[in-house]
Order: sequence, then structure tokens, then C-alpha cells
Amino acid sequence: MPDPTRVSFPLDESRIPRRWYNLVADLPSPPPPVLHPGTHRPVGPDDLAPLFPMSLIQQEVTTEREVEIPEPVRDIYRQWRPSPLRRARRLEQALGTPARIYYKYEGVSPAGSHKPNTAIPQAFYNREAGIRKITTETGAGQWGSSLSWAGAIFGIDIQVFMVRVSYDQKPYRRALMETWGGRCIPSPSRETAAGRAILDRDPNHPGSLGIAISEAVEVAASRDDTKYALGSVLNHVLMHQTVVGLEAMAQMESADDWPDVIVGCTGGGSNFAGIAFPFIGDALRGGRKVRVIAVEPAACPSLTRGRYAFDFGDTAHLTPLTKMHTLGSTFTPPGFHAGGLRYHGMAPLVSHAKELGLIEAVAYEQTRCFEAGVQFARAEGVVPAPEANHAVRGAIDEALRCREEGVSRAILFNLCGHGHFDMQAYADFLAGRLTDQSYDESELAMALAGLPSVAEPG
Ligand SMILES: *Cc1c(COP(=O)(O)O)cnc(C)c1O
Repeated sequence: MPDPTRVSFPLDESRIPRRWYNLVADLPSPPPPVLHPGTHRPVGPDDLAPLFPMSLIQQEVTTEREVEIPEPVRDIYRQWRPSPLRRARRLEQALGTPARIYYKYEGVSPAGSHKPNTAIPQAFYNREAGIRKITTETGAGQWGSSLSWAGAIFGIDIQVFMVRVSYDQKPYRRALMETWGGRCIPSPSRETAAGRAILDRDPNHPGSLGIAISEAVEVAASRDDTKYALGSVLNHVLMHQTVVGLEAMAQMESADDWPDVIVGCTGGGSNFAGIAFPFIGDALRGGRKVRVIAVEPAACPSLTRGRYAFDFGDTAHLTPLTKMHTLGSTFTPPGFHAGGLRYHGMAPLVSHAKELGLIEAVAYEQTRCFEAGVQFARAEGVVPAPEANHAVRGAIDEALRCREEGVSRAILFNLCGHGHFDMQAYADFLAGRLTDQSYDESELAMALAGLPSVAEPG
């Protein structure tokens, strides 16, 4: 039985996982292959070599259940891992719920989110391969800042294309990237053909993650000493994030408890996969069953309103095709505050898990998420990132359902980052200035109509 007074479940640093977990090994059917954008045939490792070091390409395609975490990476993880698992008792009281609410707090990393869990190993493997420069995209700035820090550790130049609306909304994220030595460019920019094509049509384009990815990929593909890094979506990124769920399993055991429900917010799917996949894999191998809920913004609802289809990862169609829940690669979501959740697609592995019925998905408007975030902050102290507020909303709604049904369930959610760089969004919410934006239905229809037509392989 869980101790009725404990709130924190620390783990000794010797309990930092030694291996990442790969869900592919336990799935009842493998995910669809990744296709070449030109030939529509499955890509091989060589096709990806201009963009990624071979060690990461191997992790992308591996079907092994576990991949060893290099000791230098574990040494850096030690600075903030194991991250805290806490029970939100004052929130439970405020809600009057019999539910037991736990959160895994990833805001303790130097960058303030879960992103360094993969930025550090990605920079490490690039350094091992002799790479001097990495290009990337960033939405809210969490990924760009995390990779800038990782670049500072391993002596790699980091060039970040930042979605323009976020660049304008979040000047301190840019300052953070530059403090760690990264270079930050608002996207669309005139530095690439992809960016210039967009700006020629619309000089005031707000940008999107799809456009920023095109710019970063274009630069990396044209230079031998430069590779590209992605902060979410790809299999190896999701796998790096499983340190979150693996630690949470040990911590839930030390709490004498186990989640009935797991909740995470989904942009590209990495923090969600990080906390959920180890538990899903355990259930697939005969362990305890768990309900898993992905929470996405109603203004960019790939899992709940997108189509499950082969699509490009970027707007200029430079990336391979992956089968995923997508709103179409030309879709530009409105400029809501959870910038990290403004991606047109969902991780192929998360999409596949949804098709297999292993996870559920819901979509929420941003004001309801900020209400939840403020309620959480007043009860527990931690001010969540706007993205994380989606998970907080999801967890609170599950706890309220427990109250209605008069049952006590254990709810675990990933509090994937703090909101200290997002206080303008909170100020707007508290002043009643935050509105719920909806995407343009005709733009969505157009973006979906533009999906590439692909004959199903196999
Ligand atoms: C980047 C980011 C997200 C969205 O990315 P996922 O890959 O879906 O996790 C969510 N929350 C925070 C705090 C982020 O930095």
C-alpha cells in the first residue's frame, strides 16, 4: 500500500538507466518502413548518411529491445538525473479526488525540459563521428537551447532555425541559446532556398516547424562537416527519452504503487513516448495493464484530426516519407503559446501505437490548459511550460473522473518542462487576454489534399 504521507521518491544516481528502451522489440507488428522521397522505396542507412552519423542511423532502425547508454552520456545525465517523481498531494486535496496523482519532473535539467535527454547523446555521437557543426530547428526554443548546451559540452557549432512567431514571442530563449554559444536565426530566413521561397510569397510568414526543418536539412545536406539533429519524432529520439519512463518505473515501485493511467502532452511525441513506452512494453510482455493518454492542442490536432498516411517531415519535401498521423506538411497552425506542440505530424512510433490501440488521444484548447497549469502551480509550486499544461489538464480531468466515479486510481504524468521562459503567456492568461485559436478548416483540407500519393509497400 502507498504510504499516505510521502511526496517524493528519490532514486540513487546509480539507478540512472544503463540502457535505453526500444518499444519496437515488443510490438505485435513492426511499424511501416520509411520511404525515399523520390523513389518511394524503403530507405537504407546510406540514404540517411548525409544527415546523421551512422551510430544514430543504427539506433533509428534497430529492433533490439535495449541499447547501451555510453558512459560519458550517463556522466552528464548525472547532473540532473534521476529526475524527481513526486506525488501531487495538495493538488489531490484541491480537487477533492480519491485519485493518486504522480508527476515526473523534467524541468530540473539545465535547459528546463526533457530535451537534453536526447540533445546530449546526439551531440556525443556526432562528436565521435568527427562532426564540427549541427543544424536544427526549434519551435518554442526548448530544443534549440538544449542542443546549444550539448554543443558547448562537446565543442560543436550549433545553428538553430527558430520558428518566427516564437522568436518574436520568446526573446529570452534566443538569449539562452546564444549564452551557450548557439546561433539562432528566425525562420523562414533568407539563408536557404527553402526559406527564400516562402518569404518571396509571404514576407510576414509566421513560420512553422516544417519550414524550419527544411532550412536546417538544406544546410546540413550541402556540407560534409555538418549534420542535422531533430529534437523529437524520430525513433532514436523517442528511445533516448525512455530514461524518463525507466526511472519512473523504479520510483513507482519505491512508492509501492503503479500507474493505472499515464498522461503526456504530444508535439512530436518524444516526452510522451519517454514516459509511456517502458510501461507499454512491460504490459505487452505480460506486466500490468495501463491506460495511456496523449494530450494535444486543439489548434494542431495531428493524432485526433490528422490522417494516418505517408507524409514528409518538412514543408519543402526534403525529408524521407514516414507513415504518421499528419495534418499535411504545408499546414501552418495558428500562433498559440505551446510552441513546442505546433508540428504537423506525429512520431511514426506513437502513430503506430495509436493504430494498434495501445494509446488514446484527446485534444484541448489552450485556455483550459492554462487554467489547469495555474491550478497546478498554486497547489504544487512548479509553474509548468505551456506544453506541459496539456498533460496537467489531462491528468486533472482523469482525477476529476475518479471523483465522479468514486474510485481511486494512480495517475502518472510527465511534467516535461518548467514555464519560466513563458511568463508572457501566463501574464496574458491572467489578464484575460488569452484566446482559443482554431486552425483554418480550408487550409487543413488543402494540406491534406496535398499529401503525397504513395502505394502501400509490401
Ligand atoms: C519540445 C517540447 C514539447 C514537445 O515535444 P515532444 O517531442 O512532443 O515532447 C513538449 N514540452 C516541452 C516542455 C518541450 O520542450
